[in-house]
Amino acid sequence: MTASVVGVLSCFAVTAFGIAPLAPDAAALPKRTVIETLATPSIEAQLDELAAHHVALTRSEATRSSDTPDSLLKRAGAFDPAAAAFLRADPLARRVLQGRAGKMVHLTADASGQVQKIVVRFPAEKVEQQGSHFTRLMIERNGAGFSARTETAPLQAQVALGSGVIRTSLFAATDDANIPDAIASQMADMFSGDIDFHRELRKGDRFSIVYETLTADGEPITWDGGVGRLLAGEFTNNGRTYSAVWFKDNASGKGSFYGFDGQSKRRAFLASPMEFSRITSGFAMRFHPILQTWRQHNGTDYGAPTGTAVRSVGDGVVEMAGWQNGFGNVVHVRHSGDRTTVYAHLSKIDVKKGQRIEQGQRIGAVGATGWATGPHLHFEFRVGGRHMDPRVIARASEAVTLPNYAKAQFQQTVASVKTQLSVAETMDGVSAAD
Ligand SMILES: [Zn+2]
Repeated sequence: MTASVVGVLSCFAVTAFGIAPLAPDAAALPKRTVIETLATPSIEAQLDELAAHHVALTRSEATRSSDTPDSLLKRAGAFDPAAAAFLRADPLARRVLQGRAGKMVHLTADASGQVQKIVVRFPAEKVEQQGSHFTRLMIERNGAGFSARTETAPLQAQVALGSGVIRTSLFAATDDANIPDAIASQMADMFSGDIDFHRELRKGDRFSIVYETLTADGEPITWDGGVGRLLAGEFTNNGRTYSAVWFKDNASGKGSFYGFDGQSKRRAFLASPMEFSRITSGFAMRFHPILQTWRQHNGTDYGAPTGTAVRSVGDGVVEMAGWQNGFGNVVHVRHSGDRTTVYAHLSKIDVKKGQRIEQGQRIGAVGATGWATGPHLHFEFRVGGRHMDPRVIARASEAVTLPNYAKAQFQQTVASVKTQLSVAETMDGVSAAD
């Protein structure tokens, strides 16, 4: 790992972003010297061969939903009515333009624009294989006609590093660092017990992360955001640093996020009742909540567009789901330890009284029902009927510790992740210098 990390550093100097392969360290592989005499073909023979060889041109494209066989071929630099006809008629070849757009197309044509070969890569057919495999569809010229075949092949995972500083928003920072949205959301989720990303981000907060990207035949995949899992991260919020690592213990085969101290990141309560997304992060409170005037304001208000999903911050039972004056459409969830959470002004309620729900489960959608001047979620946390600060509750809630048998394996994981994170941090030094 050290060798690949060092190799990657030189790329970061230019791009501030890069990929380290998960391949074994080349220096650690067994070495063997093979001496063999290679016959050198004569220059004349090589020149003859070159002259006889047509120049082939390979282009990469992604399919678009508006594509026809002709438009796709044209974009890939080919003009070939016979190939277009094959793409329309052949049951396998037709799949190139069926279903979801964004398939990766590699087209090889000769100098006259005639198609020699088309390789198309897209998600595996079986849902359970989609995280680990892809479909490779090959179309090849056979004399005057074409043939097509498909196969399923494994995706490769690479480790990518990224880091950033919050200046305006989390997504502006991840955009600057070329970090995909799916990973930004996983990062908000990873620290959802520590930081309320909707309300607590500060200018100058910083993060470093290690995550997986997936490639098919060496190229980053164009579907599902092209990413796998967020593997580790460090987030400094308002001067305090939180760290977490994805850890799957070999005995149970189950994975989840842990702090470097071995404490599970899963808490009894999430810090925020809304999933963090590009949409909610950019939605400022552009109105004055009437609530403050009709009684003492005992909750936290989250500005968000109508229809944004609202989730229960903890496991519990729905105590009330319906209309209440002032609150409009409201859901009350009862949790263990005489604790209750309240979600008000909803445009839609998705749960029923008496229903058992899990942490993170959707209970309704943001709205402006009841006494609200604009769409927002009013959220309350009560313990024994008394109002409490939800963020204090979320942090104080009991954490689970790693089982003893997994500790050695965990320490190894943390050690290698720390090395990667320190490399990620140096990348920020490069990108901040601009
Ligand atoms: Zn409120």
